Amino acid sequence: AAVDNAPAVVVGSGYGGAVAALRLGQAGIRTLVLEMGQLWNTAGGDGKVFCSTLAPDRRSMWFRTRTEAPLATFLWLDVVNKDIGPYPGVLDRVHYDNMSVYVGRGVGGGSLVNGGMAVTPVKSYFAEQFPTVDADEMYGTYYPRARTMLGVNTIDPAWFESTEWYRFARTSRKAAANAGLKTAFVPNVYDFGYMQQEAAGTAVRSALAGEVIYGNNHGKRSLDKTYLAAALGTGNVTIHTLERVRSVSRAGDGSYVLTADRIDATGTVVETRQYSCTYLFLGGGSLGTTELLVRARDTGTLPALTADVGAGWGTNGNTMLGRANHVWDTVGANQATMPVLGIDDWANTANPVFAEIAPLPMGFEHWVSLYLAITKNPERASFTYDSASGTVKLGWTPAQSAVSVSMAKNLFDRINLANATIYRYDLFGSASKVFADDFCYHPLGGCVLGKATDDYGRVKGYDHLYVTDGSLVPGNIGVNPFVTITALAERTMARVLAEGTAP
Ligand code: FAD
Repeated sequence: AAVDNAPAVVVGSGYGGAVAALRLGQAGIRTLVLEMGQLWNTAGGDGKVFCSTLAPDRRSMWFRTRTEAPLATFLWLDVVNKDIGPYPGVLDRVHYDNMSVYVGRGVGGGSLVNGGMAVTPVKSYFAEQFPTVDADEMYGTYYPRARTMLGVNTIDPAWFESTEWYRFARTSRKAAANAGLKTAFVPNVYDFGYMQQEAAGTAVRSALAGEVIYGNNHGKRSLDKTYLAAALGTGNVTIHTLERVRSVSRAGDGSYVLTADRIDATGTVVETRQYSCTYLFLGGGSLGTTELLVRARDTGTLPALTADVGAGWGTNGNTMLGRANHVWDTVGANQATMPVLGIDDWANTANPVFAEIAPLPMGFEHWVSLYLAITKNPERASFTYDSASGTVKLGWTPAQSAVSVSMAKNLFDRINLANATIYRYDLFGSASKVFADDFCYHPLGGCVLGKATDDYGRVKGYDHLYVTDGSLVPGNIGVNPFVTITALAERTMARVLAEGTAP
């Protein structure tokens, strides 16, 4: 196969990949980004780029014949999921033993499908998780830089208090307050000015039309509109889509060689390409990057990678659950899809939890308060290469999920007790499943900063090989992670480019 050369290659176009691409491009370095998903800029037959959560079609999920939404059922009925045709859709659910992980696929990675919550962790917890990183510099320079570049904004509190679209959040806030718990507003990258126009009927609805996990057609500042647009604007960055990097090795001259499969809309591999580069930046996310490196180490293509590659993975303690409100505590038929409040009990050292108050927009009143709890679960798992099947496996166990569940239960039992309410038993497929303990939205770790890499994401055992994504975060960061991933990537790129270790 022909070998294409580029000084720098970036694998993946999520947060870590997008930051790397922009900063390399600005430094005048010709950079090629390889992304397995598609570029989401072309409208389908319905005039929309993305399909809605309530009427999913083939655009919703990555090569599925049926959608796999986080909520399996409603009132025990399988009304949530729909049959679809296989297609490179925008949301993937990657199944490992005992844990499945939701990830975005496309130019922009997770930014295309996530809830946009742009949260900076408490500084003391950042320092606890990253003891070798200068926290003052992070909070003084890189977090602010990341928030500015991502277009983070906050909801107008007066509008929040008055609009029907956030009744669900006010109802959950009241239930938390009844238990003596405090809530905090959370910034977002969804344009709240646009959302108010949606509510006023002067703009096409997106967050107010149930759009989120299968993409937003309007209002959201996803990476294709921020970092990646700026990266392409430098004139030095090219993005190849529908190309999945399968393996990485090193040639005799020290350059990296990547093998990538180019697929078509049916998933058929139409071409296998080889790329060669001097500088390789891995931004495939916690799963994508870790899988590439574990495979490279254990198949012998990058044998000097250390035993820390693959280790230190966690779910950010994710646990989803629903509570049933009293009939007078309505959540509203109309719900915005962008969360703006969290129950903040992180300072409770006996049971630290930060719980996002999540929307459940079904178009009718259902009295459900939904939450994504982020717990301080200390459990970690490792990825290993299984040579018999040629696949990378994750060693997460049900007992490790149970740790998150018991922490979430501890908090929400308090809320239920104070409000004389109960959990919802009809959301996760079987009546015995009150807590979703088998999926997560926040995969973190696998190539932990300071362990598999040095303190700047430079992979141990090799030079000119960098990790810039969520695999650097040691399994938990206590809040929704993308601002931290972005800020760490900014810090890495500043150091790498200043040191002149890149071209
Ligand atoms: P990603 O954003 O996952 O990007 C990796 C990219 O690399 C993807 O586009 C992938 O297709 C590509 N890729 C992977 N492997 C390869 C390969 N071998 N070859 C080519 N390309 C490859 N976080 C928050 O902070 N706030 C939220 O509100 C929030 N809500 C969420 C809601 C949902 C439904 C989900 C799924 C996630 C949510 N998250 C949220 C998590 C957040 O989106 C992720 O933490 C973040 O996207 C991770 O960034 P990353 O750069 O590590 O990787």
